[in-house]
Amino acid sequence: MSSSRLQNRWQQLPEAEIRQLQAEKLRQYLRTVMVPFSPHYRELFREQKLNADSIRTLDDLQRLPFTKKTDLLPTPEHPERFKEFILTPDAKILARQPKTIFRAVLHGRKKVEAELSAEFRPVSMFFTTGRSAEPLPFLLTRHDLGNLTSASRRLMEVCGAQPEFRMLNAFPFAPHLAFWFTYYAGVSFGVLTVSTGGGKVLGTEGNLRLIKKLNPDTIIGVPTFIYHLLQQAAEEKVSCKNLKRIVLGGEKTSDGLRRKLRDMAAGLGAPNVDVLATYGFTESKLAWAECPFPHDLEPSGYHLYPDLGIIEIVDPKTGRAVPTGQPGEIVFTPLEARGTVVLRYRTGDFIDGGLVYEPCPHCGRTLPRLVGKISRASEIKEMQLDKLKGTLVDFNQLEHVLDDAPHIGAWQLELRKAGDDPFDLDELVLHVSKTDSTADRQLDHELRERFYNEVELHPNQIFFHDAAEMRRLQGVGVVIKEQKVVDHRPRANGDAPNVAAVKPELEKTYEP
Ligand SMILES: [Zn+2]
Repeated sequence: MSSSRLQNRWQQLPEAEIRQLQAEKLRQYLRTVMVPFSPHYRELFREQKLNADSIRTLDDLQRLPFTKKTDLLPTPEHPERFKEFILTPDAKILARQPKTIFRAVLHGRKKVEAELSAEFRPVSMFFTTGRSAEPLPFLLTRHDLGNLTSASRRLMEVCGAQPEFRMLNAFPFAPHLAFWFTYYAGVSFGVLTVSTGGGKVLGTEGNLRLIKKLNPDTIIGVPTFIYHLLQQAAEEKVSCKNLKRIVLGGEKTSDGLRRKLRDMAAGLGAPNVDVLATYGFTESKLAWAECPFPHDLEPSGYHLYPDLGIIEIVDPKTGRAVPTGQPGEIVFTPLEARGTVVLRYRTGDFIDGGLVYEPCPHCGRTLPRLVGKISRASEIKEMQLDKLKGTLVDFNQLEHVLDDAPHIGAWQLELRKAGDDPFDLDELVLHVSKTDSTADRQLDHELRERFYNEVELHPNQIFFHDAAEMRRLQGVGVVIKEQKVVDHRPRANGDAPNVAAVKPELEKTYEP
């Protein structure tokens, strides 16, 4: 069966059948790939007295312990722990597998060797991102790039792309999933794409020049940068008449932000733009998208690829799987991955609408979907911002409060210490730029009230800036990823951490 017919089959199945097919595929994957070739999971299965046949249904998956990011981080005894998650095929075991024998008889030994090399030899490497967590390398083989190509083409289909579309890929150029997934999306779907590398590579000016040249139908990138890009386009009266989709990734997307971006696009001559969010993470080597929806209705969630991976939603406290449609933490298990592989990977991302299987109300596909707002626990923990002036702060909520606030466009939260004293109280300073001529005093009052109502917190100071100053504060054109939250609290040892700057530590690169 061709891969596209297979996908179509998966797109029309009810929940029970999807789950059954996933369980069968998982058992096969564990038996022929994971247990024999993953040093980490071979050991784990032995310890837990499990084998591939222990997992007969998706509910059985709960017998397998979770994998967390910390399981891959180096320790003094294991400085290169991530290597234990890289599949290392054993020629003797492979030679005994029926599939290998069958193909060798059919196509000859040389051909089979070439196939196995494509399947298992790493040819690419991405790094995990995160505000301050250590970036970890994830290796991809040609088999993985094949899956990535297929998934990225499907993402384009879900977004309603057309072959005649032209796409501007404004994700930061880096060894990260977002940029490369989008690059492969353009190639696999077959649309003319320019990858600008984002603000740091070409600057906002360079991106605008390419918008003028390309006249794109789709712009895809990180919300903060796209916001600045459209704002500068408005300042310079650049027309964007062709624009039909703004696709966002790498950061949370709120309803307020969608509305702002739609309004800005309308101001550039594109009155009916769909602003669609994507969700993905390096460890899955995948990203999923929303389909276009009427602007007065809610988006229907991220459309998954059930043949490429299993998503579970678990109670973050007990670790138990929650029923369909219930909120919880997103846990991922791949079904086709090679290279670096993690099973039952706890993302630290919480989704408030959970996982659903009903046909999508907007596009009709019966793919499982992740529904609702996603917030990242990891960001709070990594930044150690949970306690500010004695109040517990959910920064995810704070971001939504700001994105949804009327009259303001770009914003930045800055953390300081009172009197710049590392032992004094934390202070929260808010920098904003206005989208209209509302008086500073009035907006100051409104924002304080909004903050207090939503998160029971008063910012210590609110500063108003023009667009150019906000660009400078957020590091547009300077840092890889624009900074919406900055930590300027001095540490007791004197150096001020700047947590939002994402710099993959390439000196820690894995060298095969
Ligand atoms: Zn849909």
